[in-house]
Amino acid sequence: MRLSRLAPVLSLALASAAFAQPPAAPTFSADRFGHEVAAAYVATQFMALGLKPGGEEGGWFQNVPFRSGTIVGTPRLTISGPAGSRTWDNGSDVLIGSSLVEEKQDVTAPVVFVGYGISAPDQGVDDYKGLDVRGKIVVVLSGMPSGLDSEISAHLGDTKSAMAAKHGAVGLITIPTAQSIKQRPWQSMLSYIGRPSLTWLDKKGRPHEEAPGLRVGALLNTPTADALFAGASRSYAQVTAEADGKRRPKGFALKTKVRIERNTAWTSITSPEVIGLLPGSDPKLSDEYVILMGHLDHLGMKRDAKPGEDNVYNGALDNAAGIATMLEAARAFTESGERPRRSILFIANTAEEKGLLGAAYYAQNPTVPIRKIAGAVDLDMPLLLYKFTDVVAFGANHSTVAEAVARAAAKMGVGLSPDPMPEENIFVRSDHYEFVREGVPAILLATGFANGGGEKWGQFLGGNYHHVGDDMSQAIDWQSGARYAELNYLISRELADADQRPRWYKGDYFGDLFAPGRDRAERPAGK
Ligand SMILES: [Zn+2]
Repeated sequence: MRLSRLAPVLSLALASAAFAQPPAAPTFSADRFGHEVAAAYVATQFMALGLKPGGEEGGWFQNVPFRSGTIVGTPRLTISGPAGSRTWDNGSDVLIGSSLVEEKQDVTAPVVFVGYGISAPDQGVDDYKGLDVRGKIVVVLSGMPSGLDSEISAHLGDTKSAMAAKHGAVGLITIPTAQSIKQRPWQSMLSYIGRPSLTWLDKKGRPHEEAPGLRVGALLNTPTADALFAGASRSYAQVTAEADGKRRPKGFALKTKVRIERNTAWTSITSPEVIGLLPGSDPKLSDEYVILMGHLDHLGMKRDAKPGEDNVYNGALDNAAGIATMLEAARAFTESGERPRRSILFIANTAEEKGLLGAAYYAQNPTVPIRKIAGAVDLDMPLLLYKFTDVVAFGANHSTVAEAVARAAAKMGVGLSPDPMPEENIFVRSDHYEFVREGVPAILLATGFANGGGEKWGQFLGGNYHHVGDDMSQAIDWQSGARYAELNYLISRELADADQRPRWYKGDYFGDLFAPGRDRAERPAGK
């Protein structure tokens, strides 16, 4: 599971054709060997299970081209205004990632505070109303205002950069609230410094852009955020007090200017999606596909490990556990003696931790027509540290997939719970979301909070999650792994064998946004 895009700058793909550069020479990195060995392992498992290659040119792989960007030297951020001028180096109270569209940058612009930076009039929120941010850098509060539906809120929070770009901003700065600092302390954010950022390249070699025109970004700690509001009509303390009091601060132009200087070095790499196919048995339905997937990548090696210290990010739960359960579900399909009516694609995704990039590439460059993908089930970070008795089905309640999930869960006596931690924005933090964005009903099952799960989740997210400790020394409950595999198998089986493919519910927010004009189902009463 990837980190929230709470620091868009750290992973942001800022792109514009005007800044096209000659392609960089290929480079070689030890980090990539691990992934390619793992990809080959999954392909051999697919082969042993009797699946057919589902990748490019009759093979097991879809090779995704990426641009990787690494900071050169020390980026700097300068704030000037009524209180004079002051410069911060990257890694102090400022966090700046690399750029994937401009290798050398020196950008200065006035700044406008835009509250949470959400423009969604249909949800009753428009933080940009009455503000002119063209050519300016917008300053947004980390997190989201309360009162929105959990998954809509997660989606809106994930598109802050795109909204800023749409309003003509050239940069986005994120400032903390007391709540966001509690959730992710500044010190833990600093561990992301120096990690390369990545974006996928389209068929013409252009970097994919989520927010075209947005050139710079930064994440600020409290002292720097304070300085940004020097001489303004309201102070940083006032607006964050309002936000932490569950109100929505209104935006206004600040009296300061921000200058960001940074240099980035680019390299070109490729990394494979691994794709296995189980052909469907029904002559009428076998050209439709259900996807069962999990991400194969994790975080690689720890760069700042001390000599003798563990420096391998194993990712046992995030997401070796997801890949293992996907393979187990694949075995169940092939050994069931009854082929599914629709075809099944098993996909091991790459670069999930870099922003769901492998899944995004696949969803936008699919090996089968996207409209023929009936539904997708994502297996990511099952917390196999207790005997789960309930699950949270992220993404299910927007479509008839909800009914398949309910039937499958009932068969196993597993409960279905609403999102117990909406502030984590899990709906947008794994690969299924990239399929939702292409109009495909897609879900992710998280093990739930019942039977001690809440405590285990709290411990994991504040502990081994994205740390070297996510390894085999954890007390893994293997039986829970088997049950997670079975539940995902049963759901996929329902989707693959049903007479009708999954349909978005009438009036559903995501269906209307991403799958306009397609078949709809009535939402059952009370859902
Ligand atoms: Zn992760």
